[in-house]
This record gives sequence, C-alpha cells and structure tokens, in this order.
Amino acid sequence: MEGHVLKVLRTIEEIREQTREWRAAGSSIGCVMTMGALHEGHLSLVDAARKECDKAVLTLFVNPIQFGPAEDFARYPRTEEADFRALRDRECDAVFAPATETIFPSGERHIDQMRTKVIVSGLTDVLCGPQRQWTTGSGTQGSGHFDGVTTEVLKMLHIVDCDRTYWGEKDYQQYAIIRAMVEDQGLQVAVVPCPTVRETDGLALSSRNTYLDEGQRAIAPQLYAELRRGARRIAEQGIDVIGETTTQIARSLLAHGFDLVEYVEVYTSALRPAVADTPVEELRVFAAVHIGGARLLDNVAVADEVGR
Ligand code: AMP
Repeated sequence: MEGHVLKVLRTIEEIREQTREWRAAGSSIGCVMTMGALHEGHLSLVDAARKECDKAVLTLFVNPIQFGPAEDFARYPRTEEADFRALRDRECDAVFAPATETIFPSGERHIDQMRTKVIVSGLTDVLCGPQRQWTTGSGTQGSGHFDGVTTEVLKMLHIVDCDRTYWGEKDYQQYAIIRAMVEDQGLQVAVVPCPTVRETDGLALSSRNTYLDEGQRAIAPQLYAELRRGARRIAEQGIDVIGETTTQIARSLLAHGFDLVEYVEVYTSALRPAVADTPVEELRVFAAVHIGGARLLDNVAVADEVGR
C-alpha cells in the first residue's frame, strides 16, 4: 500500500511555494521546529499540529548559532532518513530540511558573526541563560544560546508562513522566550505549548539521551523524580520552603550520581521569581544537570503535584 506522501523541501523557494499553495486552497498551517533526531516528543508536536491545522510542516535544522564553542554541534545526532520515515508514519505533510548554507549563506556559524541578532532580554538572564552565555560582543544582555535560538527561529517564522507553532514544555524557558519574541514583534502566529513526553520511568525524551551509557541511563530518571518530590513539597508547604527545597533537590541529585547540578530553581510560569503572594499553582521547578557527556534539562509544574 502506498504510504503517506511527505514533501521534502530543501530551499526557501520550495517551502514558500508550498505554503502559498496551501494558503490559496484555504488551508491553515501548523509548524513544528526541530533539530532532528526525532523522537516521540517531537512527534507529539506533529500530532498536535495535525489535529489543530489542515497542514503540518516540520523544520529540521541543526542550528549552528545556538551552540557554544565548546558544545556538541559537530556530534549532535543526525538521523535524517529515519526522521523522514517517522514523519511519513505520522502523516506530516512536509519537512523543511535546508542545508546550513541555505539559512546562513554568508557563512555565519556563531551568534557573534550575525549582523542582525534577536535578543529577548530579561527572560534570557535566568535558568539556562547565564550557563549558556558565550557572546563576546554587544554588551552583557542576553545569552549566546538563546540569542542564537531567537535569531534563527524568527528567520524560520519569516520563511515558513504558519498560523500556529508548537513547542515542548520540556524546554519551558525556550517556549517562554519564543512566546515573548512573537508578542513583542507582533507576529501573527500562535505559540502553542505542549506537554513533555517521557519514558515510562519518567525520563524526558531528548535527542541527547543517546549520549548516556547504561549506568548513566539508570540514574537519569531521578531528575524527574526529585523535581516532582520538590514540587509536591512546595504544593503542600507553600513558597516559604522554596529555598530549602531547591537545596535538598540539588543535594539528592548529586547523591544519585549526577556529575554536576547547574541549577535547581523555582520561577512562575512567566519566569518571574516567586514573591510573598504568588499562588503555588503558578510555580514551576526547573533543573539542569550533567551526567557523563550529557546535559539534561527538565521542569515540573507545581500545579500538577497539588493534591497528589
Ligand atoms: P529539539 O529538536 O530537541 O531542539 O526540540 C524541538 C522541539 O521539540 C522543541 O519545541 C522541544 O521543546 C520539543 N521537545 C523536545 N523533547 C520533547 C519532549 N520530550 N516532549 C515534548 N516536546 C519535546
């Protein structure tokens, strides 16, 4: 039996022509932006796009300008053929998989080389922002990583004409930053958050999980378990215990065998610090840890732990 037809588009002209054609037929368009090495987390975003829009397109592009000089751009997993098969199975309509030179034709491979940068200030100064700050130019605002994300994502949003774009809550800060950028720039696209997809043992799916060996993989689910435990304590005991709770989570993570705890922090869903009258339901507990060669990221909504 003939499978679903997935259009594989490589050039800006091709994707523009495709979206123009869909628009002319009156179709709405949903877009999922990824760096490939697709797993069920990414595919759940495709499912959401298909459910809510007439056409679904996924962008597959390992964005060089969001990686730091010492990060894993070169060894980031690239599994294009398997990705295309998965997209066909999920009945995705098109994949936009451009070459690096198509998006950055002047040879830019680092955020500092960009002539036009998109910097969302404030939201990029917390959590992963300071840890992934490597710009050498233009003052102290922003974060090398997130500036690289927003600079590329805004360009993709100009290339892929879509009504809705879908983002995973696993990278909650990234979602919040893109939502803010879209609002600030007055773009006519809805930024839709989608729940984190997890392995049955709780580990959030991530393309970087392939870096874990068997022993590290056995430890990794403790990240989610500890975040949930902490979120439950905050749900039960209130914001006064935030400081003690984050310290306790960090200590437990090291005891489980994680090599490094970059941060464990609590913010509101708008990424503001908790103040005296902040309802606990608005809080999320965030963490980034290192184990072996992998940097793992996760977060839990306190609201999900209320009454559990
Ligand atoms: P990536 O290619 O890993 O940068 O991610 C592309 C998109 O997939 C982003 O919106 C991520 O937040 C989302 N994503 C990655 N992992 C998951 C997951 N486990 N559950 C839900 N969404 C995810």
